[in-house]
Amino acid sequence: MKKIVKGGTMARKGISILKGIEAKEVIDLLNRAYADEWLAYYQYFVEAKVVKGIMKDGVVAELTQHANDELRHANMVADRILQLGGEPILHPKDWFSLANCAYEAPTDPDVMKVLEQAIKGEQCAIEVYSRIAELTQGKDIVTYDIVSQILADEVEHEEDLQALYEDIQEFIDQFKLKGDA
Ligand code: FE
Ligand code: FE
Ligand code: MG
Repeated sequence: MKKIVKGGTMARKGISILKGIEAKEVIDLLNRAYADEWLAYYQYFVEAKVVKGIMKDGVVAELTQHANDELRHANMVADRILQLGGEPILHPKDWFSLANCAYEAPTDPDVMKVLEQAIKGEQCAIEVYSRIAELTQGKDIVTYDIVSQILADEVEHEEDLQALYEDIQEFIDQFKLKGDA
């Protein structure tokens, strides 16, 4: 039988459609984002476990949903790295050296503090994905499409957390007003 693909993974048609950008460059960008997703996943996971304070149940539900989204993003990014002939980071120790965004340990479990840290993380994720979108636009259509989908989720995450933060702040303010009366 005649072989269609020669020279291993790098000869694939799917990679040949990249224009003006090297697969290696895209793989490096995606591996950094992949590290961010795992750290974001864990940050949400553990925040949902330890968070304390007003309207805790609503916050836990949101944090848990976001944890699941970040894990789904890690999955999407890893699949794209493999399609490009790369290898997703194999050891978690490399997450910290490659990540774009800082890991914020929830050492203060207060809901407001946890939400502030999570909002910061989402703002970093938005920067990362909008940069990858800019770098791949018109050059790597598939990566551009994937990072655009993830970017839309990160924008939604920021908005969800911000709305929750404002609701809780309003509740606290009303409570204080009643206390003063
Ligand atoms: Fe994400
Ligand atoms: Fe997110
Ligand atoms: Mg949400």
